[in-house]
Amino acid sequence: MTTPACRLCGGPDLHPGLHYQKSPRYIERLLEAEERAADYPVPLTVVVCGDCGHVQLPVELAGDYYEEYLMSHSHAPKMRRFQEGQAQAFVERFNLRGGEVFEAGCGDGQFASMLMTLGCRVTANEPSAKARRACAAKGLTVIGGYVALDGMPELRGRFDAVVARQVLEHVPAPVDFMAGLRGLLKPGGAALIEVPSLEQALEQERFFDFFSDHLSYFSENALRMLAARTQFEVVQIRRAMDGEYNEVWLRRLEPPNLAGVAAAAREISSAFAAFISVESQAGRRVAIWGAGAKGVLALAMVDTSAVAYLVDKDPVKHDRYLPVSHLRVSPPQRLREDPVDTVIITALAYKDEITRELRGECAFGGRIACLQGGSIQWLE
Ligand SMILES: [Zn+2]
Repeated sequence: MTTPACRLCGGPDLHPGLHYQKSPRYIERLLEAEERAADYPVPLTVVVCGDCGHVQLPVELAGDYYEEYLMSHSHAPKMRRFQEGQAQAFVERFNLRGGEVFEAGCGDGQFASMLMTLGCRVTANEPSAKARRACAAKGLTVIGGYVALDGMPELRGRFDAVVARQVLEHVPAPVDFMAGLRGLLKPGGAALIEVPSLEQALEQERFFDFFSDHLSYFSENALRMLAARTQFEVVQIRRAMDGEYNEVWLRRLEPPNLAGVAAAAREISSAFAAFISVESQAGRRVAIWGAGAKGVLALAMVDTSAVAYLVDKDPVKHDRYLPVSHLRVSPPQRLREDPVDTVIITALAYKDEITRELRGECAFGGRIACLQGGSIQWLE
């Protein structure tokens, strides 16, 4: 089966970057003597996405591939020291002692055990039954299954942090996987993602870093794109373990909340009417400065029948009419010829400049207000 699109951006522009005639079908599991007869080499093609630059394999592994998968390089003392330092730094940075942590693809459970030693309450996940048996032998409870956007509904929103070390490069759909991890987190929750470094492979021309187990080869840039696509903030990204890994700390972001803006849009009509009413009852005439986009939109949403007139500095706009409100645009000198008592500025970014001009050239002595969210605020 071939993937029709980039695993990272979904773009169609995948072109070959590397091709090996003979490569092993898998790397991590060595053969039993009787398996040799059925073993054969496979060609390997690595493609590069012309749209986002992501380096990847176009072919997916068989669905049950990870059932018997077991990585076993975590016994080296150097690896153990690295992982202990990594676990400690992550727990301290995100204050995870006593917190709930989910580890996806925990392998033999070594890192999950370290997190528990550091005081985290760990839920470990591992699709491989063989790896789960190895964890059980250490007294770790591990759940099966794959992390995905629609996976593990009972665990959604429960965790202070998630960890996926040396997992993402195996995942057929990394965007879906990261969206799944995000869904497991509480708002503001943290993530630790570690992958083999594409930069290391390129810098050292490591042809042997490309093999069938690894479906994606993440650069720092690709990790940043993935984080942005799945609503994570990048807290830190670094090359780790002598540059072998790209390690990234992320924080779950929430979608922008437009409720305040929606409330302001509902409020501006009555706020404007109340402002104009107070001014009218006090016998004060009101003009408006600003026929830019903000003014045009805001004035379309309010009753402008009691507004004396509108001015704008741009000569292109003079003697034209605003859409919806149909206020005619006058030049600022009208303020000298036909004085008003109050001016409302709708061009927020220029309010200081406009105020200076009102007090200077326009010789305006009245009060100045400004459109601000769903209200009209006095400036001085
Ligand atoms: Zn792409």
